[in-house]
Amino acid sequence: MIYDEIALWGLTDQDTVEEIWEKSFHYLKMQGGRVSIATIKNGRPESRIISLQRMSDHSVYFMTSRGKPFYRQLTQHPYIAASSLLDDTHHCIRISAQVEECTDPAVYQEYAQKNPGTMTMYRNNTDIIVLFKLLKGNGEILHLYRDDMVRRLRFAFGGTEPEPLTYSITDACTGCGLCYENCAEHSIYRSQDGKYHIRSMDCDDCGICYTKCPLAGTALVSRLTDQ
Ligand code: SF4
Ligand code: SF4
Repeated sequence: MIYDEIALWGLTDQDTVEEIWEKSFHYLKMQGGRVSIATIKNGRPESRIISLQRMSDHSVYFMTSRGKPFYRQLTQHPYIAASSLLDDTHHCIRISAQVEECTDPAVYQEYAQKNPGTMTMYRNNTDIIVLFKLLKGNGEILHLYRDDMVRRLRFAFGGTEPEPLTYSITDACTGCGLCYENCAEHSIYRSQDGKYHIRSMDCDDCGICYTKCPLAGTALVSRLTDQ
């Protein structure tokens, strides 16, 4: 299959999960680091737009105020889900992370230097500013490149692993080819031993293969229902 040369800025599944995170964050930063961040409020999701910033300790932070519902939600459930469109409408990123309130004065000092507008806004009440660090997490970068075909890579940071694909083919596959014939993204291929495999970079997680496989649940398994 021939891809757009710029798809995922040249990243491939040969790059490490950290390299994929770094390059993805680089492009996110180029547009100001703005993401929609969701937290949990009374059991339901609530989102807002904020900016992610990398400090000289190489960690990624975001700011809020101790008086905001956002702060209360983060202290009760320190996890966020973020997403954003990147350099064009074809690239998007999503991040899931555990966060931690920052207590390092040096990071607050650096934040103040880099964000004079925020410091002016809070003037004599800068102690209400609070920073949160993305402690560890994972996510993915997606590119919708041509004729609605997907290309994607998953990343991780802080010592975690990327999320595995939702669907996978096991040794119980009989090689009937129904998944291959019906795959919406042409992401299933056959190896020389006659077995079929899912190419993770192209898979859209749509589940069509699962609905077509006569041995769904054994030859083709879903993380949603079979594990
Ligand atoms: S989940 Fe969809 S895109 Fe992925 S292999 Fe199955 S049919 Fe193809
Ligand atoms: S449909 Fe199921 S059994 Fe048939 S080739 Fe695909 S995974 Fe194997």
